[in-house]
Amino acid sequence: MSLRVGILALQGDVREHARALVEAGAEPVEVRRPQELATVEGLVLPGGESTTIGTLLDLFGLLEPLRTAVRAGLPVYGSCAGMILLADEVLDGRPNQATVGGLDVAVRRNAFGRQVDSFETDVEMTGVGDVHAVFIRAPWVERTGPDVEVLATVPGDGPAAGKVVAVRRGPLLATSFHPELTGDSRVHGLFVRMVKEAHP
Ligand code: GLN
Repeated sequence: MSLRVGILALQGDVREHARALVEAGAEPVEVRRPQELATVEGLVLPGGESTTIGTLLDLFGLLEPLRTAVRAGLPVYGSCAGMILLADEVLDGRPNQATVGGLDVAVRRNAFGRQVDSFETDVEMTGVGDVHAVFIRAPWVERTGPDVEVLATVPGDGPAAGKVVAVRRGPLLATSFHPELTGDSRVHGLFVRMVKEAHP
């Protein structure tokens, strides 16, 4: 039986994540209500706009159930806005921006600045290999807690060189970039392996 992996489907690129999850061998399930959240073995928080997704999470009554599920060990993968939602600390956030938290990192929203709002580069990601990474008004990670593993940084010698763009702590995975947009399902494959580890 394949693992049921939810995709938070309030806003963002849900379909692309669903395709990548199918390729990674999981059964994607759209999650919009607490009852749906309760049926999944892992959850993807897609990219979009973190302030909007946070507001919608609250409106749909999902914010508290999701915080509780993360505390209880639900595996969650956050991409871009999803990374912001998972972070314990958000820099350059909106005042009172609603987040889920659980991942001991500080992320800076829209960190790459105006000149490089959106760009693509190859990054070397631990556990995955060489990944073509698409950044769209992306955050980066500015502080990582002691148990957080850095999986990828921006290569080269440009202004963003060395910035942390993929992290993991236990069952939580986050990337600044959007692997679901490149037709490469290996990052989702890593997440599906994490979900399997959490549900042996
Ligand atoms: N800049 C967006 C935010 O703050 C994230 C962008 C994205 O998910 N592509 O939520």
